Formats: sequence, C-alpha cells, structure tokens
Amino acid sequence: MSVFTVDFGHTLSGGDTGAGGNGLREEKLTREIGNLVVQGLRKEGHTVYPIQLDYANTLVESLNYRVNKIISINPTQSISIHINAATNIEATGVEVWGDNLCKDMCIRISDNISKEFNLANRGFKNGCESLALVGLYGLSNAPALLVECFFISNSNDCSKYNAQKYADCIVSGILNKKINNVVEERKYDMKNLVCYCNAIDKRAAEYLADHLQCPCIDATLPFNYSNVAENIIAVGGDNPRKGENGQVGFTGYTTKYIAGKDRYETAKEVLKFIGKL
Ligand SMILES: [Zn+2]
Repeated sequence: MSVFTVDFGHTLSGGDTGAGGNGLREEKLTREIGNLVVQGLRKEGHTVYPIQLDYANTLVESLNYRVNKIISINPTQSISIHINAATNIEATGVEVWGDNLCKDMCIRISDNISKEFNLANRGFKNGCESLALVGLYGLSNAPALLVECFFISNSNDCSKYNAQKYADCIVSGILNKKINNVVEERKYDMKNLVCYCNAIDKRAAEYLADHLQCPCIDATLPFNYSNVAENIIAVGGDNPRKGENGQVGFTGYTTKYIAGKDRYETAKEVLKFIGKL
C-alpha cells in the first residue's frame, strides 16, 4: 500500500489565506475536499497524512511548514489541494500542476474533474505553482502534484461545487480506479504484469507470471507502468535503495503486493495466491 500526504492549501488566518469569490473561501474548500480525499484514500487501504496549518505569520512560514512535513514523511505521492482565482472572471476550468514523475496521474485527475463537472480541461501543467511541489524544487524525490480544482472567481464554476465529487475525482485519478460513481475507464495493453525488485524474489515472481501467462519484469529498471496492465502485481520486497540517486522500485501503479518475511515465505504467499497451497 502507498503512503500519501494531502496538503490542504492555505491557512485559515494570518499570512497565507487563500482566494475568495462568489461567497466561497479557498482555505475552507481545500479542507472540505482535502478531508474527503484523505478518507477516500484511507478507505482503499492507504496510509495518508493530512497536512493542515490553520495559522502562519507569513506565506513563507506556511510553505516551509508544508514542505518540511512532506520531506519528513517522504510519501509515495504528495498531493496539494487548491482552488484557482483570476482577475478575469471568465477564466474557467481545472488544471493540475506536477512533475513528470506523476504526469499521468495529473492528467487523469484533470480529465476526471473536467468530465464530471463539465468544466474546461486546462490539463497538466509542468511547473512550480507552489513550494509544496517539492520535487520540482529539488527538495525531495517524492512525486508531487497540486490540483487547482476550479476558479473561485468564476460564478459558473462555483455553482457546480460539490466537495465529495471533487474528492472522488481526485482519489480515482490518484489510484487509477473507479471510486463511487467516478468511472475510470482505461484501456490496458494486457491483463496482468508481475514485477519484483530483488533477485531472491525473482523465482517466486516467475512462478506467478508462469501461472498467469504474463510478463515478469525487474522493477528496479525505469519503466512507464501507466495503462500497461489492469493488474500490476509486486512480488517480494521493494528496492531498498529506492529514492537514492534516481533508483526506482515498486510504484503507485501497483495493484497487489505479495510478500512474506523472507524469500521462502514469499514463494508460499505466491502459491496461496494462485490456489496451490
Ligand atoms: Zn491556492
């Protein structure tokens, strides 16, 4: 299972309050949506740390608090929730900022929100919208994204606001699966893919792949798992050096983990999984 940080944008008072418009306040909505995203991810079995700061003297103090939290937790994925604003009240739609490590996730979230709310899809933005995008500032190896859900300055965008639906769109995009009524229909190249990180787990992984008649790959080699397989099954331990100098291992695309406390127990778990034990 993955570890997520969900950063509720802005403070309720002090130096980092959010935007306002059409009777709504950004710092209130980021908490409404953020809390539901936390619940949604936990419901799917993930470990989630909400990052919430209600008061800061300055913007810098607020951002530093968030960034230091994210770095200390070192999540699989960092998520920040914001609502956009512009002086042009015609500006409309959803956009998701992020680094290339989570580009597909950003695109899925933006697509989901655009479809569910019938809002303009401004799509993936690769850039530094906030210090909370730690990866882009070289502060952390954790992939980071920031959702600008809609424009608080646009009355039509605001009239469609629904916190639960926003949370469902975001959780569905993060996990690449159907959440409540948000349909995440993806076309996959294959049904199953098995991966492992350590040579000692390779044999157990290969038994599983043999049974499922699917490929078995070394997850320590960089690979784009997006839309590759409906089930991505990780066998054995993760890469112990994941995160060091660009080392990779199991990813957020993993749908099932099979592991025991050593290679023999892992092999047993594989046999149990395929119903041979
Ligand atoms: Zn904001």
